[in-house]
Amino acid sequence: MTNRMLTEIPVVYNQLYQTYGCQHWWPAETAFEVMVGAILVQNTAWKNVEKAMLQLEPYLDPVQMFHLPIEKLEQLIRSSGFFRIKARRLHAFLTWFKNYDFKMEQLHCQDTYLLRNQLLAINGIGPETADSILLYALHRPVFVIDAYTRRIFKRLGFDLPKKYQDLRYLFEAALVKDVQLYNEYHALIVQHAKVHCKVKPICPTCPLLDRCEQNVGS
Ligand code: SF4
Repeated sequence: MTNRMLTEIPVVYNQLYQTYGCQHWWPAETAFEVMVGAILVQNTAWKNVEKAMLQLEPYLDPVQMFHLPIEKLEQLIRSSGFFRIKARRLHAFLTWFKNYDFKMEQLHCQDTYLLRNQLLAINGIGPETADSILLYALHRPVFVIDAYTRRIFKRLGFDLPKKYQDLRYLFEAALVKDVQLYNEYHALIVQHAKVHCKVKPICPTCPLLDRCEQNVGS
């Protein structure tokens, strides 16, 4: 099964890329915005994050955001849902970033393994958020696994490892270690889950129909 998955992962990528093309991720202007967006998108749709980012626009600077009263931060990110929890997560993240003088250049000097462990030690930052920050803001070659990845590959017929880390290693073993490839693949998975492999999948027009063991019609 693992061997088949190692072979299929690149094939699925090619198929998705041919169908949907380049996704131009992450939708943000700066690396700091990517990091903030990665925290705000937890348990919500991206459109809600966009509304919060608009409110945050005048404060999209780490020093300024760090000094915002927590109640103000809560109000600014209200549309992203779970806003009280997320305001505290953002503040915890900014407290960590302060150790690097709020400078991206200082983060860029650090080892990926160390950064990942530090991010995971921040309250409310799990593996998916940490890896999104590492890949999309810091351009490190770590594959981001999310619920869409599990949904699609399970439906394709694979018995997936339960642990986040094990599934991530599987993708990284199957692919060339390349930041742009990991960036594009994760974005394509999200696109496929939105267009075809939804909760109720639209199988007849799916580009993966021929290789899917679980196409369920629509
Ligand atoms: S055929 Fe259906 S279940 Fe399989 S990947 Fe496509 S949309 Fe998902």
